[in-house]
Amino acid sequence: MFQLDKLLRDNIRKLVPYSSARDEFKGEAQVFLDANENSLGSPLTRWYNRYPDPLQWKVKEALSRVKGIAPQHIFLGNGSDECIDILYRAFCEPGKDNVIINPPTYGMYEVSAHINDVEVRRATLLDDFQLDLVHLENLVDENTKIIWICSPNNPTANSMNRQDVEVVLNNFPGLVVVDEAYINFSRHRSFIQELTDYPNLVVMQTMSKAWGLAGLRLGMAFASEAIINVYNKVKPPYNINQATQELALKALEDTDQVNDMIRALVTMREQMTIELAALPVVKKIYPSDANFLLVKVTDAKAVYQYLLNKGIVVRDRSKVELCEGCLRITVGTASENRQLLEALGQF
Ligand code: PMP
Repeated sequence: MFQLDKLLRDNIRKLVPYSSARDEFKGEAQVFLDANENSLGSPLTRWYNRYPDPLQWKVKEALSRVKGIAPQHIFLGNGSDECIDILYRAFCEPGKDNVIINPPTYGMYEVSAHINDVEVRRATLLDDFQLDLVHLENLVDENTKIIWICSPNNPTANSMNRQDVEVVLNNFPGLVVVDEAYINFSRHRSFIQELTDYPNLVVMQTMSKAWGLAGLRLGMAFASEAIINVYNKVKPPYNINQATQELALKALEDTDQVNDMIRALVTMREQMTIELAALPVVKKIYPSDANFLLVKVTDAKAVYQYLLNKGIVVRDRSKVELCEGCLRITVGTASENRQLLEALGQF
């Protein structure tokens, strides 16, 4: 079954990680002459002349309280995209190993694989946008290292059946990554509490969606301590900058506002679903567990261009398999949603 050491690339197993000045000195001191920083300051009022905490313990402790997960089970990345890339570099031998994605899905699993010269196998979702477990199983071989599952899925907006994900977790001896970027907009339970049951599970979340902090670039991976140690070994020493750490800490104090925003976005999503459905241009709206809607329209290319001419940008997904004729529309502010509905009403 799952053996982390066997799954790792040889070079990573043997790697002696970089040890930074901030890793080596732990304790109290007043004079820091160990890291070749500029002790005089910086042009900014808030200086930022010191390197940040390489392991971001304060942020992880705050997250631990919010998520109910111990800090040593948390890795923080420069966006989820760094959490994705590091798994490739740690576990997938270029030109030899492969991973499985379930398209249509988030594009970076594939792009990051190509950057790392790792083969991508595709178990296209079934017509109801659920996992095709038979196809998935047939694609697995001894070089399959990771199965990527996005739930709720981008761009189809639905959650994967929990039992199906459990079947994969119970039977696949490699890593199973469940990307929960949109979980806060869903009625479904996160897999974050299942880490003790599944040593092969990595759950990804992000501050970019429900937390409203896409500009900060803070992605999270939750996993066993052993997997988190691999992440920490491979990551750049100071991957999360000081400003991001401070701002994330501040944001994590205000869960009430985030919960209010989630409720408001979900209410507007449901309202938009009703109003869009009444428009002649709309053929179908898929149920959404996310902060966006996948909408089939009469002529996706024309509608996309028409909206652009009105200054409204949506995502044209009409060339994506199973999403033919579809646009992906983010739930915006009340005013933005109103402008979209009015424009579409006049198409
Ligand atoms: N996962 C999914 C499913 C996404 O849709 C996105 C962004 N569109 C991300 C991850 C990226 O998140 P981040 O901003 O943390 O890199």
